[in-house]
Amino acid sequence: MKYEVKYVSKQGNVYVLRAWPLEEKLSFKPGQFVMLTYDGIRRPYSIASSPSWEYLEFMITKKEGGQFTSRLDEILGKEIDVQGPFGHMTYEGETKAIFLAAGAGLAPMMSILRYIHEQEIKGDFHLFFSTRTRANHPYQSEFKYWDIDIVERFTREGDSRLSAKDLEGFDLKDYTLFVCGSIPFAQQFKDLGAKKIKVEAWNP
Ligand SMILES: Cc1cc2nc3c(=O)[nH]c(=O)nc-3n(C[C@H](O)[C@H](O)[C@H](O)COP(=O)(O)OP(=O)(O)OC[C@H]3O[C@@H](n4cnc5c(N)ncnc54)[C@H](O)[C@@H]3O)c2cc1C
Repeated sequence: MKYEVKYVSKQGNVYVLRAWPLEEKLSFKPGQFVMLTYDGIRRPYSIASSPSWEYLEFMITKKEGGQFTSRLDEILGKEIDVQGPFGHMTYEGETKAIFLAAGAGLAPMMSILRYIHEQEIKGDFHLFFSTRTRANHPYQSEFKYWDIDIVERFTREGDSRLSAKDLEGFDLKDYTLFVCGSIPFAQQFKDLGAKKIKVEAWNP
């Protein structure tokens, strides 16, 4: 599917891209990802926007020397190809859920939490998010509008990393865990006895 990038913002090393459909619009579930192709380079990216929105939003961390992410400064106004959706870390109406995100792992949680907020779904929701610095967090102001419990950690500003210890106060057998970030980040939440665990993870 052809999309055009009509908005790019940069905060620290994190880009937020918005792309509008040139023909038909992609249908997806909150939490899914797509394959983006720009100028012959193809990479998977989680969708950060809610499915009801006209445009797709992405939250992308720039990697030094990365093929795709080195091109983000030139992508405004360009056409990209979107294939998908893919992925099983989908939100299916759960009302007791803990969302654990590190770095760009926040992207699919944004889609899910925006959807929950927009649909006015009532539940027992907790978001744990860690990233290096406040400067790498493009969604700080939006968090303030959500009526959910949020823990933020900035690991280069002296905060500890998120770990299984952070979940000690929860009776996890009642909760679905949504986990997204690097593979080592995701692995620490594997065997905690949660009702269900849904994971999307990639190499750091
Ligand atoms: C399901 C899924 C969802 C994802 N969602 C997101 C998301 O929402 N946001 C996000 O930011 N990322 C996401 N990713 C990661 C994303 O797909 C890319 O892997 C990432 O953006 C890096 O792409 P790149 O082309 O810039 O880097 P690449 O060119 O693929 O390089 C990756 C790393 O290797 C290093 N490298 C490359 N070549 C060399 C070399 N010759 N020698 C030494 N080092 C080298 C680069 O410096 C870079 O750090 C997701 C991945 C998956 C699997």
